[in-house]
Amino acid sequence: MNFSSRVSSITPSTTLAITAKAKELKAQGHDVIGLGAGEPDFNTPEYIIEASYQSMLAGHTKYTPAGGLAELKKVIGKKFKEDQGLDYTPEEIIVTNGAKHALALLFQTILEEGEEVIIPTPYWVSYPEQVKISGGVPVYVEGKEENEFKVTVQQLENVITDKTKAFILNSPSNPTGVMYTEEELRKIGEVCVKHNILIVSDEIYEKLIYGEEKHISIAQLSPELKEQTLIVNGVSKSHSMTGWRIGYTAGRKDIIKMMSNLASHTTSNPAVMAQYGTIAAYEQEDGSVEKMRQAFEERLNTVFDKVLSIPGFSCVKPQGAFYLFPNVKKAVVSGGFSSTDEWVEALLEEAKVAVVPGSGFGADDNIRLSYATSLEQFEEALDRIHKFVESRQ
Ligand code: PLP
Repeated sequence: MNFSSRVSSITPSTTLAITAKAKELKAQGHDVIGLGAGEPDFNTPEYIIEASYQSMLAGHTKYTPAGGLAELKKVIGKKFKEDQGLDYTPEEIIVTNGAKHALALLFQTILEEGEEVIIPTPYWVSYPEQVKISGGVPVYVEGKEENEFKVTVQQLENVITDKTKAFILNSPSNPTGVMYTEEELRKIGEVCVKHNILIVSDEIYEKLIYGEEKHISIAQLSPELKEQTLIVNGVSKSHSMTGWRIGYTAGRKDIIKMMSNLASHTTSNPAVMAQYGTIAAYEQEDGSVEKMRQAFEERLNTVFDKVLSIPGFSCVKPQGAFYLFPNVKKAVVSGGFSSTDEWVEALLEEAKVAVVPGSGFGADDNIRLSYATSLEQFEEALDRIHKFVESRQ
C-alpha cells in the first residue's frame, strides 16, 4: 500500500523502542527502573478533579466552540496578564488538545510547502516531525553544550534564508532544562523581528523553574515581539494534567482564527470536562503547583552531584523542567560501545535502568534522565548506572 509521503517521512520515536523493551523486561519479572517519564509523577490536584466532576453533574457534557470555552479563554487571558503582564483578548487565544495539538495546528496553519522552521538542538522530539507533517523543512542549529545548549544570534543569522518562516524557542527546555536569559531573548527577538520570522515560544515548563531564575516570555519584551510570537502553553506539566489534554496558544488574531478553523474540521473542541477542570486549575489554585515545583527542585538538588560523580559523565545544570541531560560520551567510549544508543540498550539489559538516548533529541552524546519519579527510585537508578559504568571500564 502507498502511504502518504508526509506521514511516511515521520521518524519513529526512539523513546518508544526503549520503553517497549523496558516493558518486556518488566513483564518477565525483572526489576526495571524507568527514567524516561515525560510527565509529573503526582496525581492531578484534587480540587481540579472535583471541579471537573461537578461541571459534568451540572450538565456540561456537550460540544463547546472548537477553539475552547469563552470562559476558559478569559481565564487564560487573566493568567497571561498576571504572570507576564501580557494582554490577550479571547480572539487571540485558542484552547487545544494539549500543547502538542496546539503546535500541530500552528505549523499546519503557518507553513507552506518547503518553508523552513529553525529548530535548535537538542530539541523536543515532536518539533521536527510536526514541521515535516505540515510540509515544512526543519533547519537545525546546534545548541552547543559549552554554551549551555543555547543557540547564538550569529548561528541564527547563518541559517536564515528567504524561506525561513519560524523559529522554535523552548525555555525551559525539554530535554536540557536550560533557560535563555532576558538579554539572550532580546537579541534573538531582534533577529526574528528584523527578518520577519515568527517565534513559536513553547513555554510548557514555565511553572517548573528552580533557584533564583524567573520565567520570562519573549513576547513580553516589546510590542513588536508580542506581535511576532505565538506562545504555546498548557496545564500538562504545571498542574500534572497530562492525561486531560489541555493546551493553548496565544498570539495574532488572524493566526488563531485559522487554527480554530482547522480544529473545527479535525478534532472539534478539547473535552469539555477537561476545559472546566482547567478553569478551576487556574481560578482556584491552592498551592499545589508550587508544592510540586518544590518537590522537583529538591530532587534536582539531591541528585545532581551524584550524576556528576559517575565516571565519564558531565552535565549542564538545568534551571527548569524535570530532566537531566548528561553527556556520556566518555563512558560510552571507555566502555567499548560504538554509540550511545548501544550503551543505553546494554544499560537496560544489564543494570535494568531505562533512560532515553539523546539521538531522538538531536544530541548523540547525551542521555535524558527524568526525575519525575521518586527520589528513592532515582537514587537507586543512579547507583545502578554508576556500577554499570565502573564494570565496563
Ligand atoms: N512541548 C514540550 C517541550 C514538551 O515536553 C511536551 C510534552 O512532553 C509538550 C510540548 C506537549 O505537552 P502536552 O502534553 O500538553 O501536549
